[in-house]
Amino acid sequence: MSQNVGPSAPQAEIAAIVGAAHVLHDPEVTRSYRLDARGLFLGDAACVVRPGSTAETAQVVALCAARGWPVVPQGGNTGMVGGGVPMGGAQTVILSTERLRTIRSVDPDEMVAVVDAGVTLADLQRAAEAEGCHFPLSLGSQESCRIGGNISTNAGGIHVLRYGNTRDLVLGLEVVLPDGRIWNGLRRLRKDNTGYALRHLFIGAEGTLGVVTAAALKLFARPGEIGTAFVALPDPATAVALMRGLRQRLGESLTAFELIPRIALDFGIRYIGPIREPFARPYPWHVLVDVTLPEAAARLEQALAEMVEPLGLLDAVIAQSEGQRTALWHLREIGAGGHQHRAGAIIKHDISVPIGKVPTMIARGTARVTAELPGTRVVAFGHLGDGNLHYNLVQPEGHDPSDFRGRTGAMNRIIHDLVVELGGSISAEHGIGLLKRDELGHYADPVELDLMRRIKDAIDPAGLMNPGKILPPA
Ligand SMILES: Cc1cc2nc3c(=O)[nH]c(=O)nc-3n(C[C@H](O)[C@H](O)[C@H](O)COP(=O)(O)OP(=O)(O)OC[C@H]3O[C@@H](n4cnc5c(N)ncnc54)[C@H](O)[C@@H]3O)c2cc1C
Repeated sequence: MSQNVGPSAPQAEIAAIVGAAHVLHDPEVTRSYRLDARGLFLGDAACVVRPGSTAETAQVVALCAARGWPVVPQGGNTGMVGGGVPMGGAQTVILSTERLRTIRSVDPDEMVAVVDAGVTLADLQRAAEAEGCHFPLSLGSQESCRIGGNISTNAGGIHVLRYGNTRDLVLGLEVVLPDGRIWNGLRRLRKDNTGYALRHLFIGAEGTLGVVTAAALKLFARPGEIGTAFVALPDPATAVALMRGLRQRLGESLTAFELIPRIALDFGIRYIGPIREPFARPYPWHVLVDVTLPEAAARLEQALAEMVEPLGLLDAVIAQSEGQRTALWHLREIGAGGHQHRAGAIIKHDISVPIGKVPTMIARGTARVTAELPGTRVVAFGHLGDGNLHYNLVQPEGHDPSDFRGRTGAMNRIIHDLVVELGGSISAEHGIGLLKRDELGHYADPVELDLMRRIKDAIDPAGLMNPGKILPPA
């Protein structure tokens, strides 16, 4: 961590723009901004600056550009791939959006909200609710992550099935470019074919092309009646068949379809204590289903009843109250397993494949990683409705954790080779950041990589905006 506090240090000049109170430089204070959410990367920075407006943000970025100081945009710092960790050296400036918290407007006629980038996802959801609307992006991190971060990672979550990714929810953006100019693309239009759709360049760019300072976002009607079921199944292939069957019977009413394997619940029981499971006996696989339509619970029950025999469903419960619904969703949270690290070292993957290939991904991946290291425990769970699995490999019982961590490269190769073989993606919803940069270099189509580099060079020719992220060194 830089101890440079002389008059030419970034913090002194930046303080003249935002005020000294909004520039942090004590290494202890800035540590939580320099360390990623998973504790994998700790970076170096001169200071953390917290501008209070778009104009201040632009002035700070212009100053950094003039001085050659790298800038790392940061929202809630909940990202999973180290995208917000400073990697540009001791003069790097972390630009936090935490003071950009104005909800500029929520318009229930247009069904559009315009908000500053530092508004948390949960605050936006609440603001939409207060006007009788619904903002459907929903993540486990929603009380901490910020809209600018959601946009910059093109976050997914549990409702992609019905509403799409963040990309599908953005109508317009305001962005401070790497040279300090403000691009005012804050349009609120559903139809706008005036040349290149520039906003899409910044969505999912992980802060490498500029600082998102505000966004115009689509709102939706509040969902009507929600029916929730927890269904026990013999295998993932039955889950895929169940999703098809539900679509055939209930149309586009599916809003969540989450896969939970037995092993994920067993880890929960082992490390956080007894859990209230809806079934008297353990089953190998489960899906949590949400549907939104009139008489949701009754129609879901009827649809499931029709499929019990033909598909071989093992058991099912339908939530009869909001309390029961919450309890079933709690099983999903347990399945996501914040406690899995207590079983030892974990190698995590966030992958997607065409939905019909999910069963192959699970079976073939398990066979290959256990051939590489017998006893490796596969916890594959998540957004089956989107073909997106969080594919965690937990070390064999009693194995040396550091040896297992040392196999990360080999295990990544096995899983990512298989993903590519099946026509999938090595990053479904978390992005590339630092963690997967070299994997992108290994797998990306050279033409695609070349286009990405040209875009980066065109918008950030000095390479000062979040250096070292996404693109592997040429
Ligand atoms: C418990 C938990 C559950 C999660 N569940 C999900 C999930 O279901 N689906 C999912 O997709 N993700 C999930 N995540 C990951 C994470 O919450 C998302 O990636 C989120 O969108 C990141 O937002 P943030 O504000 O924390 O961004 P940060 O972590 O601060 O930044 C992420 C990236 O965006 C850039 N960035 C941030 N703000 C800006 C800005 N204003 N302008 C330009 N660049 C910017 C950063 O430089 C960095 O590269 C989860 C994380 C946790 C901890």
